[in-house]
Amino acid sequence: MVSTFFALLSFLLTTSAYPTNNDTSTVPSDSTDTLARRWYSVPEMRVTTGPWPVKSFDPVTGNHAPIVYCYEDAWEIGNFPPLVGQAFSKWRDAINQSALDFVPDPGCHGSLECGCATGFTQPDTLHIIRSTDGRTKAVVGYEYDSNQDGRHTLKIGGYDPKNQEDVPLYVLAIAHELGHVAGLAHEHQRPDRDIDLRFDCSALVGYTEGITKISRDMFDSVDNIPECRHLTPEKCMLQVVCSSEHYVDTYMPSAFDYITGDQIPTWDDFETGLFDPKSIMIYSSYVNSNNPTGQFPTGAVLVGLDGDREFQIYTGGDSDPAAAGISDGDIERIKQLYPKGI
Ligand SMILES: [Zn+2]
Repeated sequence: MVSTFFALLSFLLTTSAYPTNNDTSTVPSDSTDTLARRWYSVPEMRVTTGPWPVKSFDPVTGNHAPIVYCYEDAWEIGNFPPLVGQAFSKWRDAINQSALDFVPDPGCHGSLECGCATGFTQPDTLHIIRSTDGRTKAVVGYEYDSNQDGRHTLKIGGYDPKNQEDVPLYVLAIAHELGHVAGLAHEHQRPDRDIDLRFDCSALVGYTEGITKISRDMFDSVDNIPECRHLTPEKCMLQVVCSSEHYVDTYMPSAFDYITGDQIPTWDDFETGLFDPKSIMIYSSYVNSNNPTGQFPTGAVLVGLDGDREFQIYTGGDSDPAAAGISDGDIERIKQLYPKGI
């Protein structure tokens, strides 16, 4: 059985694959023009990873940069199109104002129940797949440095068609992943997020177990975590492990999706602008919390900050997943990544 909480957890526990971007010298800096740039995403330049390519231009409607997709197999074709169709709808306002679109692979001749197994789909088409590990995840942007067939994937985990009450959560989760596919990264992983957010690593699931593991390894040898030589296990966790790409996997896997981009070499120069607490790409305050029923802010992993005011954060700006959707900031970033050019 898939409980509502588990569904939410499974969506938000997961990490999207990091794009590879080794050519940092060609990426524009985010130190200028920040008011014009909103959102944390792949670079606009299509070098190794970027927005999906423009496939055609029409003098009236402008550029057309479709994300083409197909469903991996019969189970996916039989179960996912209604969910994915509703997730596409959440992006409608961005699609209408940009070159972005989601269309079935041309090999399916317009069928919305497009199967990848026909043998006629394109190498770069997005494969929508039922994940085998229960996790929901997707690539970030278009990979330009590879021609590998099936390199773009959106994996949906844990969905049980018998539990229709979970549909709004899954639709929101898939819409979030579509943001990754289009090239958007997590708002709460922006290098400057601590200005607008308080991240409490000790509120995450697995914190106590992580402290136990750190204590044991530090006791075995101080060289296991040399940065913590003069710290208590708790301080080691909060000051080192929770923000370290190197240690987080070993001691605090649930903190992985909260590491800021400047700690991740391939992300450190992605563009940012105004902070967007209503983005569909930010995690809700209580996702991954070890005290998910706490009275806000008790147990919150992420707390929004607005001067002295603290506020609760919801993915897509609404506590109701059916009402949650893309923000004005999400639309602005999509318009910048996918300009119509007219
Ligand atoms: Zn995500």
